[in-house]
Amino acid sequence: MPIINLTSCPVCGSTDIKKVFDAADHFSSGEVFPVCDCRECGFRFTNNFPSEDTIGKYYNSPDYISHSDSNKGLINKLYHLMRRYMLTRKMNLVNRYVDGQNRRLLDIGCGTGYFLQAAKERGFTVAGIEKNDLARTHAITHFGLDVKDEKSFFDIADTSFNVITLWHVLEHLEKLNESLEKINGILTPDGTVVIALPNHHAYDARVYGKQWAAYDVPRHLWHFSPGTVEKLLNKHHLKITDIHRMPLDAFYISMLSEKYKGSSLWKQYGRAFLVGATGFMRSLRNVEQSSSLIYIVKKK
Ligand SMILES: [Zn+2]
Repeated sequence: MPIINLTSCPVCGSTDIKKVFDAADHFSSGEVFPVCDCRECGFRFTNNFPSEDTIGKYYNSPDYISHSDSNKGLINKLYHLMRRYMLTRKMNLVNRYVDGQNRRLLDIGCGTGYFLQAAKERGFTVAGIEKNDLARTHAITHFGLDVKDEKSFFDIADTSFNVITLWHVLEHLEKLNESLEKINGILTPDGTVVIALPNHHAYDARVYGKQWAAYDVPRHLWHFSPGTVEKLLNKHHLKITDIHRMPLDAFYISMLSEKYKGSSLWKQYGRAFLVGATGFMRSLRNVEQSSSLIYIVKKK
C-alpha cells in the first residue's frame, strides 16, 4: 500500500519536524499513525498515511455518518439532530457574507448534499465536489444536484464561484497546497471562502491529548490551529477576515473521545458534557478555545 511519508512541512517547507505522539485509528482499522509538529511554524500533521488512492478503505465503517444516513445509536441520533441545527446555522452564516443577485456556491466535500440543497432552497446556484461514490450518487439522485468527483475540481474555470465552502473537509485533502491554490483561482475577486476545521488548540483537545477524537487519523491528515491556518492561507494569497466558533462540536467530539477511551456509558455522557460545557464557556471568552472553528476567508 503506498504510504505518504512527509519529510518537510507542507506549510513552511522546513525539514525540522518531530513526532509528538502516536495516535490510533479508533474508528476503522485500529492502526497507529505518528502525529508530527513542524518546529519552525508549529503546523501539526499525520505522517505515514495511506495515499489518496488507497485511503478509501479507512472511511469504510457503518459508523461513518458524514457519508451516510445511518441512524443507529444515540451518538448518531445526536449527530442527525445537530446536523439539522447546523444546516440552519451554516446557511445563516453564509448569507451574512454574501449579497447580490449572482450567488454561485461550490461546496467541496459536499457528502450526501444536505447543505447544497439548503443553499439551493435559499436561491443559490449550487455545485458540489464529492469523492465518495455512494455519497455523490445520493446527492445526485435524491436532490438532483450538480455534484462531480474530486478530479473534476481541478477542471473548474477561474472565477466561477463567489462562495466556496469546506465544512470539515480541508483536513482530509492530500493535495493541501494544490487545493488552496485552485480555490483561490476559481473564487471571484470579492468572493468568500468558508472553511470549518477542528482546532487542536481547543480546550477539549488539551483534555483528551492523543485520544482527542478529532485527530481522527488517518482520515485527518492536517491538524489546524488558528495560527497555522493563517500561515497556510497567507501562502496562497488568502486572508482570514472573521472567525466563528462551532459550540456543539466540543460535546460531540468529547463524547467520541470518551468512547474511544473505553469509558463506561455514564462517564461517556457525564464527562463529555462537563468537558463540552467547560470548552464552550472558555470559547465564549476566547474563540481560539473552541473545538472547531469556522474561518471566513477572502482574497488578499
Ligand atoms: Zn512548518
